[in-house]
Amino acid sequence: MEIKKAIVIGGGISGLCAAFELKRGGADVTLLEKSDRVGGVIGTHCEDGFKAESGTNTVMVNNQNIFDLFDSIGLSDEIARALPSAKKRFFVKCGKPMAVPMSPFSFLFSRLFSLGGKVRILREPFVKKEDPESEPSVAEFAVHRFGQEGLDYGLDPFMAGVYGGDPEKLSIKYAFPPFWNLVQKYGSVIGGGIKSMKEKSALGNYFKPVLISFKNGMKTLTDKLGEILGDSVKISAKVISVDASKGGWQVSWGTPEGDFCEEFDALVLAVPAHALAELPLCGNLASALKPLSEIRYAPVATLTLGFKKSDIPHPLDGFGALIPKKENLSILGSLFVSSIFDGRAPSDHITLTNYVGGERNPELAGLPEGKITEIVLADLRKILGLKGVPVFRKLYSWKHAIAQYNLGYGKILDTADLAEKEIPNFAIIGSFRGGVGVGNCIENGLTAGKRILDKLSKE
Ligand SMILES: Cc1cc2nc3c(=O)[nH]c(=O)nc-3n(C[C@H](O)[C@H](O)[C@H](O)COP(=O)(O)OP(=O)(O)OC[C@H]3O[C@@H](n4cnc5c(N)ncnc54)[C@H](O)[C@@H]3O)c2cc1C
Repeated sequence: MEIKKAIVIGGGISGLCAAFELKRGGADVTLLEKSDRVGGVIGTHCEDGFKAESGTNTVMVNNQNIFDLFDSIGLSDEIARALPSAKKRFFVKCGKPMAVPMSPFSFLFSRLFSLGGKVRILREPFVKKEDPESEPSVAEFAVHRFGQEGLDYGLDPFMAGVYGGDPEKLSIKYAFPPFWNLVQKYGSVIGGGIKSMKEKSALGNYFKPVLISFKNGMKTLTDKLGEILGDSVKISAKVISVDASKGGWQVSWGTPEGDFCEEFDALVLAVPAHALAELPLCGNLASALKPLSEIRYAPVATLTLGFKKSDIPHPLDGFGALIPKKENLSILGSLFVSSIFDGRAPSDHITLTNYVGGERNPELAGLPEGKITEIVLADLRKILGLKGVPVFRKLYSWKHAIAQYNLGYGKILDTADLAEKEIPNFAIIGSFRGGVGVGNCIENGLTAGKRILDKLSKE
């Protein structure tokens, strides 16, 4: 069989997975990455026994395909599963972390909600189902179904944790489809959740989600994929032109080694939506994808701090604490990283990764390191009773951190679907489509690679 050539532009986890799948399927792949390393927002900094992730700290594995990938690239032994204590999660109320109830019993005794708030939440199964054609925001949906406290101390901090997002702007349909789908299928989130769990258990195909990272941090995954792709990866690459006028894809790019121009059978775009506008795409592709540049990305800074264990009176016996907007604090949340995975801090020390900015306080994400440190330390003193000063610190500031699945997202997504349908041998992937989680990006990258291989095999 003739070997087909494919080019992937963008070397984050989405592009790496697409390129890996294409290479595994026998295609001759080239991956162009603008920066001097692969991984995109994923990266791990190790210093003096501390580990700081630049973005992703944890991956929720929702199906076996992802474990199969790790196995096939020889990373099964490198996986770090979250410690059992990480099951406990906190939301901050009245300035203090309160455990998020994980069972009906703990819900009844939780201090996160008032008695009236609990009664209102329990009424959810009797609330009118949303019109399937409507598109409520996360805030509208939460208040309608669970009442104001359900928003303030439920979906609001949760959305801050996942998207750094504003629940008034995020679309429930796209930002948190599980809740929307339960209502549409069963008429309620609570009742539907119970029914759907029973149905899955009866079918015997329920995959219990597993929270993981890698023993040496998330960089293990992206570095390994980069290593397998080998010479196919061209880092520090500047795309000069992408043209399809002569049939196939003619792509020119420049690297420190010189300029190149090659023809490819297939093109996969895996850059963030905000970066599409700066790519020199040919006319029809540029106009087909123009609406995607409208997707907003929340700016987020992550400040990882290391402390002596004795400096924090809180036992840090959980995953972390997310902050509801109502609490009027500056940070979005703090992950108790060394309570989630072993090996994230030297003995007698702990590591916390703190998130600053988001749609709630976008201006804070761009502040200088000293200012961000001050803000974070002030909040940690209030929330966790922090006494000492950090012995380790690492800041990453992302101007465009996380894609916002805001109202109107459906129309924007239609653009991508249409482009893939109408433009031959073309795929567009990334965290702006099909979920921002790394698990989603892995699956969507692999699927795009398979889809392209399938099309190429039929030519
Ligand atoms: C602070 C933060 C915390 C997060 N925490 C989690 C978490 O705990 N769990 C989780 O599941 N997810 C988390 N996420 C989300 C997840 O990390 C991302 O959604 C995912 O890694 C995005 O991967 P991607 O490949 O789609 O995009 P990116 O990682 O953005 O990669 C895109 C790549 O394209 C390259 N590029 C851009 N323009 C060009 C160009 N013109 N030419 C060539 N290359 C180009 C970029 O340099 C980059 O390498 C987090 C994200 C952030 C920012």
